[in-house]
Amino acid sequence: MESSTGIVISEKEKANSLDTEKYLLRLAQDPEALLSPEEYPDVLTIPPTLHKKLDELKKLTKRNVREFTTIVAQNAQRSGIYYSTAMPGEPLSIPFEVKWDAIANAMQAGDIRLFDDYLGSIHSHPPLRKSRILPFRRLFDPGTFSAGDLHSLLQRNIGDHFMGVVAGDEKLFAFRSTHTPLDISTDPDLASFDKFEQHWYSRAGFHVLENGIVPLRPDASFTSLWEMNVEIAKTYGLALYKGQAGSDLHRVPLK
Ligand SMILES: [Zn+2]
Repeated sequence: MESSTGIVISEKEKANSLDTEKYLLRLAQDPEALLSPEEYPDVLTIPPTLHKKLDELKKLTKRNVREFTTIVAQNAQRSGIYYSTAMPGEPLSIPFEVKWDAIANAMQAGDIRLFDDYLGSIHSHPPLRKSRILPFRRLFDPGTFSAGDLHSLLQRNIGDHFMGVVAGDEKLFAFRSTHTPLDISTDPDLASFDKFEQHWYSRAGFHVLENGIVPLRPDASFTSLWEMNVEIAKTYGLALYKGQAGSDLHRVPLK
């Protein structure tokens, strides 16, 4: 059922370009509005409010060399998008508690109703000198999701529709689709975070250590990590988008 203020997404928008916040608000009103992998448009436009939030995450991360996260939700008036205050995580990860703190703060402020309004999150990746990839510390980590990032998007237990990452000048978004399993924890082989990480990093040529990953094969590189992102997206029906700072998001072909 659609409310009187229901947002409508046209076929033209699906075929060409769609406003990211408009799509998220539509999902907040009706989770059934989730697009199939074929329906996701080539371009998702970034409205000024989202640009501002992405810039803020980028600046905070440069200064502090740790990851920051923000919660994206429908606002209290149910008419726009609400971004929580950016919360600092660890240098290499956002502990689950930090995400819950951000959600709890937003709920206390009366801004979101859990499950109904929570839409997803955006976090930053710090420069590579604090990267999870141990031998490459003087470079900059290009925009790739960690295996753990994508694992959390495959457990739709608190309403995540999407995840965004800001890495230097690059930004990367992954959206669930109608082909994405509701909850990967029903898959006995890859349900746990650890098994999922081991499986995908070893396919990309890396070994997982407690404080990062190390290359095991000569082909283990940023390229193989990016290919891992593409393979995970293909396997679980995620739509991947990439863009530079200040520009819109372009769909990544998964061929
Ligand atoms: Zn991450």
